[in-house]
Amino acid sequence: FSPEERIAGSARIRLSGTRARHLRDVFGATPGKQLRAGEIGGDIGEATLESLDSDSVTLHFRAQHAPPAKRPLTVVLALPRPKMLRRMLRTVAETGVRDLHLVNARRVEKSYWQSGLLDTATLEQYLLSGLEQSIDSVLPALQVHRGFRPFAEDHLPALARGRRALLAHPAATRPCPADGDTETLLMIGPEGGFIDYEASLALRAGLLPVSLGSRILRAETALTALLGRFLVAPR
Ligand code: SAM
Repeated sequence: FSPEERIAGSARIRLSGTRARHLRDVFGATPGKQLRAGEIGGDIGEATLESLDSDSVTLHFRAQHAPPAKRPLTVVLALPRPKMLRRMLRTVAETGVRDLHLVNARRVEKSYWQSGLLDTATLEQYLLSGLEQSIDSVLPALQVHRGFRPFAEDHLPALARGRRALLAHPAATRPCPADGDTETLLMIGPEGGFIDYEASLALRAGLLPVSLGSRILRAETALTALLGRFLVAPR
């Protein structure tokens, strides 16, 4: 949440619209109910529901502790089919990924660039739903890259330098490693895969191709399974 009013060490929160209705209708929350909450970019704590009406809920929040540490993970995700975007961003935020780069590629749907789907506010809403699930309050640092080649040539080499940098590719012979402590960059292709030229630019930038086996997984399944390799250490 973003606080409406701060009161020495605590805050009053007013939720409206979908989030208020969700609390009332799905959770059946009534005054006095205690909830876990987090201030965006701030602490996690306890919120007591003070009042609710047909369209809004007021809560009193007391900060208790810092949010969980992010994982040392940078995900470079080629934009999936638009209808998968919400779920995939939620997974990224839920699992504690620290940095997210959304990239265009030849096999990414062109409709993205005429729609409002990539507005910062929309993307942050998707990420926030993952944070809510995992009781975290810090959004992954997000960048959107409209051109694959400028991204791969101008940014990727620097992002790959000094860290384990992996290109997820079903045909790779090297298995994807599994450990949660190594600073890692993980790049995942769109539904139709990267074209050869894009994969060659990623390799030139220093990425190592790795695989989860010869079965071709849907991009969403691949994202979840790949992230699972790096959720080994408790964080
Ligand atoms: N025909 C495409 C290809 O061969 O690359 C399939 C693309 S797949 C639907 C979408 C993305 O998920 C891939 O670009 C890759 O990054 C990841 N992926 C899918 N299956 C994988 C596997 N078995 N191992 C590693 N990555 C995989």
